[in-house]
Amino acid sequence: MREAGLSASAVRTEIAAALSEDIPWTRVLNSICTEPHPLAVELSHAASHTNLGDVRIFRGTKRIERKAVALLLELLGHPQGAGSLVSGGTEANLLAMLAARQEARAAGRLTGRPEVIVGSTVHFSFDKIFSALGVTAVRVPVDDGLRLAPDSVAAAANENTIAAVATAGSSELGVVDPVDDIATALARHGVWLHVDAATGGFIIPFARELGRRLPQFDFHVDGVRSITIDPHKYGLANVPAGAILFRDQEAYQADSFFLDTPAHTTLLGTRPGSAAVATYAVLEHLGREGFVEITRTNFENTEYLTTQLTEAGYGLLIEPDLNIVVARVPHAAEVSRRLDADGWIVSTSKRFDEGLRLVVARHVTRDVIDAFMPALVKADHE
Ligand code: PLP
Repeated sequence: MREAGLSASAVRTEIAAALSEDIPWTRVLNSICTEPHPLAVELSHAASHTNLGDVRIFRGTKRIERKAVALLLELLGHPQGAGSLVSGGTEANLLAMLAARQEARAAGRLTGRPEVIVGSTVHFSFDKIFSALGVTAVRVPVDDGLRLAPDSVAAAANENTIAAVATAGSSELGVVDPVDDIATALARHGVWLHVDAATGGFIIPFARELGRRLPQFDFHVDGVRSITIDPHKYGLANVPAGAILFRDQEAYQADSFFLDTPAHTTLLGTRPGSAAVATYAVLEHLGREGFVEITRTNFENTEYLTTQLTEAGYGLLIEPDLNIVVARVPHAAEVSRRLDADGWIVSTSKRFDEGLRLVVARHVTRDVIDAFMPALVKADHE
């Protein structure tokens, strides 16, 4: 550390220079996070001093968190449920697995190492979680559309199964597992069904309202015990804002050192109230109608991109459920590197040699697509 500090303006200059190296959103086609809503940025700044780890101090902020959780529970069909805002999808998934393991242990039915049933499309956050918790992942087949097959899930259940995970919108491919059929197949096994809707939670309810054929994925489905939903993705809040929701009481609680201090229900202790404020601000400001309109535009732009790709001679590797398009581009990894060198960020899935993955988040407008297409064609023909 410096002996004598720098002037504020010198620090500002250095930070501004670093930020200017970041890629502008208008050139980002790989991210399921997007530019946060201006109201979220404004109000989270106002709450930047708050800490939801100490709710005796930040009681007003805590009230906002409770209100945000209530709105999310209502959105996902179960106002009576419980939940917390957390740092993101990884923490939310971890808390769900902790709660499921705790319930299985309390029921005294584990005879060996705990197991969780997942498909190959499950988010990689679960790899971290399983190694942290000492859980074995039981990977079951997905179908041709890369969706988890309900019968395979049920066939894998045994006394050591603490949970099954269905994904409602994989970040890799935008595929939605048949949560309702999986719940039906699992019903007689009494297995905790966790739905990872980190990506799809703020898309599917509104897309269904627009008439898109997507499975019911939330607490309306009997058997769904917990859901991850991320305001910092399609919920337009700024990072870090995730949420874990439970059908029943929050199963994970950790006591603190101090008297008269409520138990923590999250992994993080000190945690940003600004995230709760940002989440609540966007939910209240946009309302259902606002989210439906954003979803409509995202799907229209996805169709526009698909048409542009087809006209340029690129097919799709998979029919998208959500606004993630995987175009068939030979030597996709090389094309992605060339695009990167030209200032465009896309991604390639390790699953396909020829798949260029393009995410149509809110910042990917028609203008962005019109600018991107010639860059893609150029990178492909270099
Ligand atoms: N689950 C899914 C389906 C995701 O798409 C993501 C992130 O992309 C995560 C979990 C992890 O979320 P986070 O990066 O917020 O921890």
